Amino acid sequence: MTAPRVEVDLDAVEHNARTLVDRLAPLGIHVTGVTKGVGGAPEVAERMLSAGVAMLGESRMENVERLRAGGIAAPVLLVRSPMMSEVQQVVALTEASCNTEVRVVQALAAAATARRRVHGVVLMVELGDLREGILPEDLLAVAAAVLPLRGVQLRGIGANLACQHGVLPDPTNMALLDRLVGSVEEALALRLATVSGGSSVHLEWALSGAETGRVDDLRLGEAILLGVEPARRTPIAGLRTDAFRLVAEVIEAKVKPSAPWGRVGQAAFGPVPVPRDSGDRRRTILAVGQQDTDPSGLVPPPGMMVLGASSDHLLLDAGSTVLEVGDEVAFGLSYGSLVRATASCPTTYLTPTIA
Ligand SMILES: *Cc1c(COP(=O)(O)O)cnc(C)c1O
Repeated sequence: MTAPRVEVDLDAVEHNARTLVDRLAPLGIHVTGVTKGVGGAPEVAERMLSAGVAMLGESRMENVERLRAGGIAAPVLLVRSPMMSEVQQVVALTEASCNTEVRVVQALAAAATARRRVHGVVLMVELGDLREGILPEDLLAVAAAVLPLRGVQLRGIGANLACQHGVLPDPTNMALLDRLVGSVEEALALRLATVSGGSSVHLEWALSGAETGRVDDLRLGEAILLGVEPARRTPIAGLRTDAFRLVAEVIEAKVKPSAPWGRVGQAAFGPVPVPRDSGDRRRTILAVGQQDTDPSGLVPPPGMMVLGASSDHLLLDAGSTVLEVGDEVAFGLSYGSLVRATASCPTTYLTPTIA
């Protein structure tokens, strides 16, 4: 089989999605299954939908195109603010998008009107993480500007945390979201269809018995795909953390000294600390590198250690395992490693037979 490749256990993805859908349902919260971690792979989206997610979330239009080309007809929410240059595509291929700029919503409205469509708009409000979001004091004015536009429907309000600065959901910021929803509804005399409270990092908050207020949607990617919560990257009880593996092939396996020799400058990807001498080690080179994935997020098999990587070579201390050229090594992946690996390596779908 070709290497490097990403192997996906679709049953594990479906199990995770179903478990989360079932845990959130009693709270009146549905799930938007976010597929950007796997580049909008239709095979993965299909399993999320079988598991009962209400909608799909994507950040890139090229991934949405892939979903549609793969026969996925479910509603898609674009979770990144549309680029001005892609509004035509956005209204053609998605049902709704997250927005923070009135000019963009105006462009969406014009594009949707021309196509005799109505595009849903979720206004993202800033709760302190300082990535995307309308400042709370500006939210009402933006909502009031969006409301009368033909071609768009103000669908709801959303928020995002823990993506830029790791700011976590807590009773204070989530209560603010609730109050903002209430004040927009009161001032504009309407009832918003949805409050999209956040992402995987909100699971702990939502399932802790906290007051979830008007939140009726979470946009979940990492928790479904990798089975971990993003704040500490710890496994979520009952979820599978083995859905994805990156398999790479050994191209050199030798016992070599552990410390380099000669005058030292920068390495291919910047300065690296010179390792201390721990004697001769089994140094194994795999044909995979920075171009294929984020090597720092790879989890090697027990007893092995990633020493570093350049664009096309990954250096592994194989410990006591004897590897030979042609052997394959399977790694677990962080979310960052997964995003890059699925974008540049072929994917193999494992569909275990059901006994
Ligand atoms: C990526 C993203 C998500 C999904 O985040 P996870 O941590 O993978 O659950 C949700 N909302 C927005 C706006 C995103 O960009």
